[in-house]
Order: sequence, then C-alpha cells, then structure tokens
Amino acid sequence: MTCSQLGGPCDHPHSRTTADDVINAQDQHLRQVVAAGDTEHIEALDQMKGRWRRPISGMKWYRQAKRDFAALPED
Ligand SMILES: [Zn+2]
Repeated sequence: MTCSQLGGPCDHPHSRTTADDVINAQDQHLRQVVAAGDTEHIEALDQMKGRWRRPISGMKWYRQAKRDFAALPED
C-alpha cells in the first residue's frame, strides 16, 4: 500500500504484512517527512492526528483502510 492510497500526497510504498502495520508505517512516514520540512504532507498528518482524536469517525477510516488493504494482491 502506498502513502497516496492512505490519503497522503506521495507514492511512498509501505510493504507490510498487516493493515495495522501499514497504518502505523503511514503515521510514521507522515511524521518523518513533515519533521524533515515537507509541507505537502502536513494536511495528511493533521487528518491522521484528527483520527486518533475522534475515535468514531477515525474508526470508519480505519475500517476502510483495512478493507482496501485486504483487497490488494499480496506483494
Ligand atoms: Zn507520503
């Protein structure tokens, strides 16, 4: 799964085996690139932070991300 498939602006790939790992990898990716001075990822990072703050709407996104992950062919 890539950054853009998780709502981010780039095509950075996450090759992890579970949806939870991919979501955590995306969270880290957003923090790392924003900390390094990237501005395109700020919006996606804010949305990710908002998901942790709002469990109900965040959970909907989380379930969708898990479904998207399950639908992908294994790599
Ligand atoms: Zn990215």
